[in-house]
Amino acid sequence: CGVLGVWSPEPVDVAGLLHLGLFALQHRGQEAAGIVVSDGKEVRLEKDLGLVSQVFTPERLAKLQLEGARLGIGHVRYSTTGSNLRFNAQPLTVRSSKGILAIAHNGNFVNALEIRQRLLSEGAVFQTTGDTEVMINLIARYSQLSLVEATARAMRELKGGFSITLMNRQTLLAFRDANGVRPLVIGRLENGGYVFASEPVVFPLIGAQFVRDVRPGELVWVSTETGELESRQVLEPAPTPCAFEWIYFARSDATLDGIDVHAARIRLGEELAREAPVEADVVVPVPDSGIGAAIGYSRASGIPFDYGLYKNPYAGRTFIQPTQEARALKVKLKLAATSAVRGKRVVLVDDSIVRGTTSGRIVRMLKEAGAREVHVRISSPPIRYPCYYGIDTAARKQLIAATHSVEEIRAYIGADSLAFLSEPGVKRAIGGPVCLACFNGLYPAGQPDGELEKLAL
Ligand code: 5GP
Ligand code: SF4
Ligand code: MG
Repeated sequence: CGVLGVWSPEPVDVAGLLHLGLFALQHRGQEAAGIVVSDGKEVRLEKDLGLVSQVFTPERLAKLQLEGARLGIGHVRYSTTGSNLRFNAQPLTVRSSKGILAIAHNGNFVNALEIRQRLLSEGAVFQTTGDTEVMINLIARYSQLSLVEATARAMRELKGGFSITLMNRQTLLAFRDANGVRPLVIGRLENGGYVFASEPVVFPLIGAQFVRDVRPGELVWVSTETGELESRQVLEPAPTPCAFEWIYFARSDATLDGIDVHAARIRLGEELAREAPVEADVVVPVPDSGIGAAIGYSRASGIPFDYGLYKNPYAGRTFIQPTQEARALKVKLKLAATSAVRGKRVVLVDDSIVRGTTSGRIVRMLKEAGAREVHVRISSPPIRYPCYYGIDTAARKQLIAATHSVEEIRAYIGADSLAFLSEPGVKRAIGGPVCLACFNGLYPAGQPDGELEKLAL
């Protein structure tokens, strides 16, 4: 998912800023989008299933126009906990003793079930099947505390990987779990206001300057009295941001925790070329996610880079399609082989193999287009374990590498050879401490206490 928050010292078109910002975060979730705005008194919410461009019609944006709007939050959804249902779209809002609270969440809480059961036994009611509602209910429960205190308290109780923007009528807050699994950054508007966002890629679009990353375990908010940024280190930081953000998920123009995503992808490809060389004529990326690694593979191996696959730019991301059939069709809608592979020994570079559907179809496509050999090189290790911190959990149940050896996967996708980057290779390429749990099963932020969806309404 992608999260966003805007706070301005004077009335501005908050909905317009959030709308643009969400557009820049669209790659982080395509299932639903939502915006909440407030002028200090009134709060308005618009959210629905669909892309940002589909959800925010001129009519919907008009409904979000509050004359004196000064703050708001936004969300794009990529379903993990809680299925793709309209009532699971975010931001979520609750009416509490502290007035209206709105929350936008990227990540997952691993102890949500336990807390949910406790809150249920204390009389709370839940309307969604997701874990975000647990957080917001927890905050609403601490009615005797200020919003900042209540949020800090909730941060201490929840475990897992999460980056969150939160607001009431006046105050905007943002916070990150102790491991900093999901990214979260701070930007400054020209008028002195603040922006909190999943990735800094929103800033150029809305005229904001990058300030810094939110630190793992840090809670930040904009003081309603002074308009200045306030911070509290609520949790002891133990940074292990998600390696997959650099491998695949984040936008290539982003810099997260000081590490440039595009440059990291090139280094992943360079490491891969050193670890798994092969004699070949051309290095071909699986667009778009394999491009950075293919550039790196080509540079380090000296084998020329070329576009052996045309990507239909109107097709969207394959992976986010909910069913296997939809994904298979989407690969054909999205990709076709070019003449660059005819008669050639091809190194096909992609960022990851999840189910094996994409690679299998592409290998076949290249061979049908006349490729002599297809050597598949993947710039991440085999994904053998589920992610509990906000990358599609359901999909991880169908992980091909969880049940098949590398040789079996090679045979399944019909490649002449197949190699994955090693864990040390990933660490060297990214260059900082990272979570690698989906590759090695070592979960830095804990494992879930049960399946939240079993409690679904
Ligand atoms: P496969 O066909 O092996 O299931 O999918 C591999 C492709 O899915 C890769 O090209 C990769 O870019 C993409 N992918 C891997 N993990 C994710 C994810 O968590 N979300 C999305 N949207 N795409 C992913
Ligand atoms: Fe990222 Fe994998 Fe860790 Fe999930 S388990 S946070 S996808 S590295
Ligand atoms: Mg891809």
